[in-house]
Amino acid sequence: MERDVEVGVERREVFEGRCQCGQARYRITGESVALFVCHCTECKHQSASAFGMALWIRKFSREMLGGALGSWVRTTPSGKQLIGEFCERCGSRLFHQMADQADTMSIKPGTLDTALELEPVAHIWTSSAQSWVQLPSSILSYPANPPTFEEIFAAWRLQKEKVTALPRSAPQVPSNDPLK
Ligand SMILES: [Zn+2]
Ligand SMILES: [Zn+2]
Repeated sequence: MERDVEVGVERREVFEGRCQCGQARYRITGESVALFVCHCTECKHQSASAFGMALWIRKFSREMLGGALGSWVRTTPSGKQLIGEFCERCGSRLFHQMADQADTMSIKPGTLDTALELEPVAHIWTSSAQSWVQLPSSILSYPANPPTFEEIFAAWRLQKEKVTALPRSAPQVPSNDPLK
């Protein structure tokens, strides 16, 4: 594995997941930079649910462990091309990527094998959220697209630092002491 010598800190994380039918499996290695919820109309249609979620990974390498992917491209309101990739058999959306951003991809986090221990740090497009959705008062929220994602990146970095700074629980040593 490559190490970033200048930074001197290993920031690479591994994300594994699959589509609903299990044919398309992936392993993504990289640096997570944001996890947020999007309430826009496109995300509702894409997820066939109340909202979409996105886990952005930078400087990623992507390995398919099985299955064939189909893809679909839509033009965003800002005129950019967004590529969506999905299992060719069951249709589960797995990845999004902006055509002009080669170093960043988005994983649809509901496809991960293990639930993330980190929570979304922002909600966007809240102006079109379902009326029953209640946002935590402390979370970043934006009525539409945020003017920039810097606040969201910073909140995510902070959350990651808090989690990695937590003391690891001591390993459980089996005790033969009858009083315990
Ligand atoms: Zn599938
Ligand atoms: Zn959206």
